[in-house]
Amino acid sequence: MTFRITYSVLDADLSELHRQFDAALMDVRGGLGGEYPSWVGGTALRSGDLLESRNPAAPEEVLGRFHRTPVAEVDRAVRGARSAQRVWGATHWAERVRILRRAADLLSERRLVLAARMTLEVGKSRLESLGDVEESADLLRYYASQLEEAQGFARPMARLSPHEDTRSVLRPYGVFAVISPFNFPLALAAGMSAGALLGGNAVILKPSEETPWCAEGLHQALVDAGLPDGVFQVLHGEGETLGAALVRHPGIDGVTFTGSRAVGADIQQRLLAGRPRPCLLELGGKNPAIVCRDADLEAAVDGCYRSAFGLSGQKCSALSRIYVHEDLRADFLARLARKARETAVGDPSLASVYMGPVINAAAVRRFEQAVTEARREGVIHAGGEQLRIGGAQAGGHFVAPTVVELPHGHRLMREELFLPFVGVTGFRSLEQAVEQANDCEYGLTAGIFSQRPEDVEFFMDQAEAGVLYANRRTGATTGAWPGVQPFCGWKASGSTGKGGCGPYYVAQFMREQSQTRM
Ligand code: NAP
Repeated sequence: MTFRITYSVLDADLSELHRQFDAALMDVRGGLGGEYPSWVGGTALRSGDLLESRNPAAPEEVLGRFHRTPVAEVDRAVRGARSAQRVWGATHWAERVRILRRAADLLSERRLVLAARMTLEVGKSRLESLGDVEESADLLRYYASQLEEAQGFARPMARLSPHEDTRSVLRPYGVFAVISPFNFPLALAAGMSAGALLGGNAVILKPSEETPWCAEGLHQALVDAGLPDGVFQVLHGEGETLGAALVRHPGIDGVTFTGSRAVGADIQQRLLAGRPRPCLLELGGKNPAIVCRDADLEAAVDGCYRSAFGLSGQKCSALSRIYVHEDLRADFLARLARKARETAVGDPSLASVYMGPVINAAAVRRFEQAVTEARREGVIHAGGEQLRIGGAQAGGHFVAPTVVELPHGHRLMREELFLPFVGVTGFRSLEQAVEQANDCEYGLTAGIFSQRPEDVEFFMDQAEAGVLYANRRTGATTGAWPGVQPFCGWKASGSTGKGGCGPYYVAQFMREQSQTRM
């Protein structure tokens, strides 16, 4: 394998890293409010209709203005992509690998500036933003290594007669629409795009309307790395109009989407209505953790806390349901609630802040609604209120990390909220806990805390989720790295059956051809 992890945040001198981040942030702040085009058919498109990217910690702050792609331009984008793809698809795989690796190195070199932009645009803490950028670079490297290891995915097959040679060759589909969510604005856009590009496809990316600035950073790295014009296009605009028009276009040969279950289902319906095409969906989660009677309580509280409230609960892998043994319930709840109340919530560009804002006013309204239900039907142990932070952040979308006791089966224990809001309920036997953890339409991640190996084995064997963790203090249900944790949604959490970050990713963007020669 030609892939080596380059996650520098893990062993960095943190005070030096913060100093470098401060300098990058100052640089980035100096260039706020710029105008950026969409990239259609290999050229910049300036429609004059501007989408503003705003800081969720201080919504009056405009970070950049992005020229929306008119829906009428989708056709030009698809035709441009089709013609660029003919050359790109015929380019030797080793050259595709070289360009994507160069783009990875550029993302790594630019990581501080890209992370500073991300903190302003999405409200991620500094280390979370740096992690996102470094993950993007490693995704490109890891997927490039898959193509290299498989020598472009061409292999000889068995012979039926001595006069015939047959090869299995994976070939590109053509033009892929890539639709990415706001929460990992670089890593997910980069990972999905890289899979498609390495497979020899052209890509039309429609990033979240909340994060056009991060998408611009990806476009710049790919162009600077030498990707030919038109092979990677970026259309800025709203999902309901522009995204829907893109996936509806008959010239699209495949869609890869990461986002909510509702939008994913809508896209799948649209594609099913046309000719058969691949539709790779990575969707939401309602991720459980089980805390057994003999768990290391402190580790369990730490792991659950980080997974529930990191990135303000806005991770697909965020912990949102905790099943805790009845004998520990009171103690566990008291400790988790104390940690939640002590959380440093505020402007994520500050080194001291652990939890930034949620993404927008709609997320705050969703929080208010969940809290109203929790007051009525559960017991709130921490949080439950919107937070007014002073200074420039006065209008920011801040809510308090919230811990609620709720019965299993309650709506708030079944539906994805995508908020810093975790439900806790008690259990008597591990069998019951695993059954309740599985009793959910989603199946993305799940965790257990137990010092008994047989409990861990039982959980690993029975849990219905694509990503499992045991006794992980750094995250009960969160954390995945390219080449380390394949990230594959089961049940309503995804359709791919082969996860991002995993060894079979790139092949999904290609179709098999059998070539027999006499
Ligand atoms: P979202 O609302 O579903 O949006 C995802 C993307 O789809 C955005 O680019 C959005 O554009 C676009 N979109 C919206 N409506 C569309 C339509 N009708 N047709 C085509 N595209 C459309 O999700 P989000 O709020 O950005 O992200 C959070 C969700 O993503 C959560 O459910 C989370 O669990 C999931 N997620 C899953 C994974 C995973 O690996 N399984 C990873 C990260 C996130 P606009 O932003 O412009 O509306």
